Amino acid sequence: MIPITYELIKTDKQTGARLGRVHTPHGSFDTPTFMPVGTLATVKTMSPEELSSMQANIILSNTYHLWLRPGEDIIEEAGGLHKFMNWDKAILTDSGGFQVFSLSDMRQIEEKGVHFRNHLNGEKLFLSPEKAMHIQNALGSDIMMAFDECPPYPATYDYMKSSVERTSRWAERCLEAHKRPETQGLFGIVQGGEYEELRRQSASDLVSLDFPGYAIGGLSVGEPKDVMNQVLEFTTPLLPANKPRYLMGVGSPDALIDGAIRGVDMFDCVLPTRIARNGTCMTSNGRLVVRNAKYARDFSPIDENCDCHVCKNYTRAYIRHLIKCNETFGFRLTTYHNLHFLLKLMEQVRTAIKEDRLGDFKESFFEQYGLNQENPKNF
Ligand SMILES: [Zn+2]
Repeated sequence: MIPITYELIKTDKQTGARLGRVHTPHGSFDTPTFMPVGTLATVKTMSPEELSSMQANIILSNTYHLWLRPGEDIIEEAGGLHKFMNWDKAILTDSGGFQVFSLSDMRQIEEKGVHFRNHLNGEKLFLSPEKAMHIQNALGSDIMMAFDECPPYPATYDYMKSSVERTSRWAERCLEAHKRPETQGLFGIVQGGEYEELRRQSASDLVSLDFPGYAIGGLSVGEPKDVMNQVLEFTTPLLPANKPRYLMGVGSPDALIDGAIRGVDMFDCVLPTRIARNGTCMTSNGRLVVRNAKYARDFSPIDENCDCHVCKNYTRAYIRHLIKCNETFGFRLTTYHNLHFLLKLMEQVRTAIKEDRLGDFKESFFEQYGLNQENPKNF
């Protein structure tokens, strides 16, 4: 039995975007979708009940961080990550590859794996395809990610080529080391930077290994937005139509819409939760920095057009006050609103695909929101 399956419901006549459904051992979710990030087995400040109330059906968690704290053995002893954190819907775990390459500056890459230092205490660590699979098997996530190298942007063609080849060899080792293929689905990660030939090579290597889904990695690492869109344009057609496609580390509203238009089904990013803790909100009229002084006496909601419980019950003035005073409740309110905003946006995208009008939806959304060029790094 394959634990992860994808059902293509229809494609949008205006753009070619896909409306689909992914089935996992912990329920199904409709795509395109956005996955809130719960780095340390919690989406910062949100309870699982709150996540459910905003219709989040899959969240992401981090192999590297959970390996260090509390340790995968403790989570396995608790009965797996779902039980440990009281979340009975789908969970995707990354492989730790991105954190090794983004959090640690002392790293040494070998064929066997990567030597690097713990970002908390400087202790020497080693992560390999086998170790990344062992940790994710212990966590029991529904979707696991292969251990890959995420090269920086820009990287030379020659460097990228040898990196892509190593990532393909590592992907094969991940498949061999994966101990629970009946209950956990392993996704391959297509790399290759902005080089079409290397994306083609990477996709062809990984598709021949027949993963139940594919991620597009190495984007949202500092490249301009048009480069990301271009890479997506030539990469998604290389992936099988009957498997889900996941664009890693992307969460700004315009990038979600642009990604969906290019055939992406799944997205994740810390952006909505991280900016929320800075007092920045996503609204239908663009970003709103609620901590600004001009909102001190503004008794309107964060977003007049939002139907979330925060916008129904709390004012900009109150939320600004809480955030200025570092009150946890303020961060909870902005986080809830931002996640609700993105999940609602994806619902609107799915409805637009259903009605063959995603091109029109994009035009009106972009006009009201204002084009957002930010490319935050995920971690
Ligand atoms: Zn709201």
